Amino acid sequence: MDSVLQHDLNDLENILDKAKQNGIDFLNNLENVPTSNKASIDPNRALNELGLGSLEALKEFNERLAPLMVSSPGPRYWGFVTGGSTPASIVGDWLASVYDQNPQAVKTQGGVSALIEFETINLVLQLLDLPTSFLGGFVTGATMSNFTCLGVARQWYGKQFGKDFAKNGISETIHILTANAHSSSVKTLSMLGIGSQNYTTVKTIEGNREAIDIHDLEKNIKNLNGKPFILISSAGTVNTADFDDFKAISKLKEKYNFWWHIDAAFGGFAAVSDKFKHLTEGWEGADSITIDCHKWLNVPYESAFYLIKKEHTNLQIETFQNSNAPYLGNPLENFNYLNVLPENSRRLRALPVWFSLLAYGKKGFKDIVENSISLALLFGNELIKDDTFELLAPIRLNNVCFTLKGDHNQDKVAQFLTTLNDSGKVFMTPTVYQNRKGIRASFVNWRTSENDIKIVIEEIKAVAAGLDL
Ligand SMILES: *Cc1c(COP(=O)(O)O)cnc(C)c1O
Repeated sequence: MDSVLQHDLNDLENILDKAKQNGIDFLNNLENVPTSNKASIDPNRALNELGLGSLEALKEFNERLAPLMVSSPGPRYWGFVTGGSTPASIVGDWLASVYDQNPQAVKTQGGVSALIEFETINLVLQLLDLPTSFLGGFVTGATMSNFTCLGVARQWYGKQFGKDFAKNGISETIHILTANAHSSSVKTLSMLGIGSQNYTTVKTIEGNREAIDIHDLEKNIKNLNGKPFILISSAGTVNTADFDDFKAISKLKEKYNFWWHIDAAFGGFAAVSDKFKHLTEGWEGADSITIDCHKWLNVPYESAFYLIKKEHTNLQIETFQNSNAPYLGNPLENFNYLNVLPENSRRLRALPVWFSLLAYGKKGFKDIVENSISLALLFGNELIKDDTFELLAPIRLNNVCFTLKGDHNQDKVAQFLTTLNDSGKVFMTPTVYQNRKGIRASFVNWRTSENDIKIVIEEIKAVAAGLDL
């Protein structure tokens, strides 16, 4: 063994203690870590011939790399849809590295950690009040979950024509209908060889809505003259957290032949609250659902899962089976994750979710979700008390989409946001909603409190005053 490695091995306890202390120092100071910073590095560091050992590497990390870190898991990082990491999720994440399992099979020599993934999926189904007719698995994010679901939808589509697209490639025009597919689903259409432009946009409900207009959907379906199609629907659009009407879509499913996918990356968590559960009513009728965990479940990055109806498992295996590895046996008899999703080797990605669900239970997540939503309302109300701002849409859930009041201020929105983000106290992201430039604040983090709203409103007022708005 290399002598530096040997030294690290002998010093393991001390090394892990130092890493733990590093983590504690960062997390305990999170309130003061800026949400944006101007630090930079020259990324062309030369690789040393002789290793430094873990402790020296940690020292260099603290000197050069740690200053690059922003308060992304902190309470005022409201850009995109960004969750944080709860204590239990960090435990699960750390232990996933320590145990370093590769969850694949549920019944084999050499490891059965996939059973932990099965158990975790069963727990999230209970959290979200979904039936066990779904088979689920973990992927890196909602993008890969959409990819997995729509990959199986593509195979289903071919089967409607007696074709095997997975084996022979796409030989039919695939019809896709959607009103407000997330950009990641569109990216997925490109990755799947369907083509990122090859979908039909259905109208949204009149007025300030991003949800599918069901009448226009049915009109589009009729235009297909009985041909099958794939419907990409939304549980939580990113601008205004709008939901498609899943009960109405379920009814259409009784009349027409289509694959129904729901991107519920963050909005699916509405189901944990009695107050907001109605938004997801009927979603159990979908063929596939995407859920992100590194958003509202507040686990560290690279965690999402897909849910695909068990009746489609054969199509899923046809799409993802690792067929060049005969030693795996018959994929239908011996369940193995590498035959049902994009990756082969994976980390034990379910573990942070498993720890979170056991540690905080249904009540913990209901509280996180309801707290986020009430903070979104509070922030929105505080904003419009000031005549400088207006909401671009009503606050339906946890996202606030707003802008500077008046069309004459449209060209100042970008400068306002840049100046606000430069303060390092809050981070929000720009958007365009109904042809107007706006700003999004998304409330997802378990740490966010009323005091954070106060801090941000003060900063917003100061920035607006500084820009003479
Ligand atoms: C965030 C998000 C995605 C993409 O998720 P990643 O985890 O970044 O891959 C997809 N759909 C919706 C609705 C989202 O909010």
